[in-house]
Amino acid sequence: MKIAVIGSINMDMIFQVKRLPQKGETLLADHYRTVPGGKGANQAVAAARLGADVTMIGALGKDGFGDQLMEHLNIEKVNTEGVMRTETPSGNASITIDKEGHNTIMVYPGANYDVTEKWIDDKLYLVEDAEWVMFQLETPLLTVEYGIKRLKALGKRILLNPAPAQILPDSLYPLIDIITPNETELSLLSGVENTDMGVQALLKKGVNQVVVTLGEKGSIAVNEDKTTKGKPFAVHAIDTTAAGDTFNAALLIALMKEKSMTDALSFANAAGALATTKMGAQSSLPTDLEVQELIK
Ligand code: ADP
Repeated sequence: MKIAVIGSINMDMIFQVKRLPQKGETLLADHYRTVPGGKGANQAVAAARLGADVTMIGALGKDGFGDQLMEHLNIEKVNTEGVMRTETPSGNASITIDKEGHNTIMVYPGANYDVTEKWIDDKLYLVEDAEWVMFQLETPLLTVEYGIKRLKALGKRILLNPAPAQILPDSLYPLIDIITPNETELSLLSGVENTDMGVQALLKKGVNQVVVTLGEKGSIAVNEDKTTKGKPFAVHAIDTTAAGDTFNAALLIALMKEKSMTDALSFANAAGALATTKMGAQSSLPTDLEVQELIK
């Protein structure tokens, strides 16, 4: 199962506080830790933990976070030959969480915005034997568009996780095999509030398959022929960070194993549900064994 991921790599800095700071206020945090994140890297590591052979194309700064993130991807057995080091600081997110679980998040894209069309061209040889390529929207939209067009022309199958949501050019939709918005992203992309109508709007634009993630309600997949519902899994959720990323990786892996759409959605729901039971992004990604345990 060979997958390529073209996307972001971030270090998440997580500050736990009694309450969120006011404008102009200095507060002491009770707890601090760093956890590898970024939607691209989350999906790459999630897919690797679930047993896929994953190549990552992205960018990191020549800084301490860059060193740590690169080492982490290597430990997780993600091929990092396509990760360049640039003069821009590594992408990072400052996440402040209070006692009630309310948060504020500030993301600095940094080196993720150095992923260029040329970098994709230079690293195309790494993607040669990948069947599927996964994209998200934390690298420049122009690069995402270029990458999708270039790789589709080479016969690759394309999964786009349209997060964080941005309006996409209409010309992109017919090139996408699977698009995986959550409900908020779906309404922004389609311009329609209603989920069914939103899905139909994206199908009309030419996407082959729309898979909508519905949080604790699971997910649905819709194409021209049919609608498939995935079985949701009830868990004690404490942090939904990276649930969507895990879902995407798991969905693709299940489909590559030729599971039916019903079974693939269940597998992905179980994987996404497990990711909500632990704090943090890549600290919460489940293994194949853990997902199998939940499903049976
Ligand atoms: P995103 O994190 O991108 O907003 P969702 O919140 O829809 O996406 O979560 C992705 C998937 O993770 C869902 O489709 C579901 O399978 C699983 N999931 C998310 N939250 C929960 C939850 N509270 N309980 C069980 N499963 C969940």
